Amino acid sequence: MCTPPMDAADRRAIKPVICYPTDTLPQPDLDLYRAARATAKKVDEVLAPARDAACFRVPAGSFFRITSVGGPQVGDLNLWNAHDLRERFYSGKTRALHGTHITTGERMWSSFPQLRPMATIIDDTLGWYGIDEFGGSVHDVIGTRCDPYTGNLLAGSQYHHCCHSNLTRALADHLGVSTAEAEPHVHDVLNVFMCTGFTRDTGQYFMKASPVRPGDYLEFFAEIDLIGGLSACPGGDCGSEHSSDTAACHPLLVEVFTPQVDSLTGWAQPALNGYDRSHGR
Ligand SMILES: [Zn+2]
Repeated sequence: MCTPPMDAADRRAIKPVICYPTDTLPQPDLDLYRAARATAKKVDEVLAPARDAACFRVPAGSFFRITSVGGPQVGDLNLWNAHDLRERFYSGKTRALHGTHITTGERMWSSFPQLRPMATIIDDTLGWYGIDEFGGSVHDVIGTRCDPYTGNLLAGSQYHHCCHSNLTRALADHLGVSTAEAEPHVHDVLNVFMCTGFTRDTGQYFMKASPVRPGDYLEFFAEIDLIGGLSACPGGDCGSEHSSDTAACHPLLVEVFTPQVDSLTGWAQPALNGYDRSHGR
């Protein structure tokens, strides 16, 4: 342990500042979205089976809802621009803008150079949870996705139903390509229904049994044409372990709803980011 300097206490006492104040962040018109949602009809549904994944399409201006069915279950969500898979959900930037967990009114932002909202959360039945005594909260953008490479690194395992592999197979089937072609498109996820945080003493990433119960849902407005991929994590409610077949696991339901055409007057798909991309040259 190194010796603290004389002014250690003073240096620690410096107050933090928010990295990215969001006062200038374009805000969604939730009232407009909800009014449109009231006119919407269900047009599609897919089931992500337990320890497996499914892909789905959502047109811009439509809604999709992820619902817990059968039992407490965590879902790993990927989003892509349906016309250009290079534009995909950017977990790290979403975390920088909205914090470690996201809920109603917050958005899933896309990668560079587009950096724009892909989807906006309009309803969250776990919105009551807040932050618990351990610092845990729900729907995180801090985890990556469970994957067979980390399992192999730590335990020498060959497990094929981690969310990374589930999403790879689902996207391959959806696009009609090989898993080798699909795998590079799989990215860090929104951990739907997952309850996580960092321990105060060691700063380690922790998970605990999700408070989700059958009937709970998280609902989104699609800001652009989307392909979604949802994996029902092999960790189940993620109360004990993942990357194995040990935990009780349940499917997750995805439903797509399309509103009446005139219900979104005043709304437009988010423009591409305005940076000129010259990078100083
Ligand atoms: Zn997982």
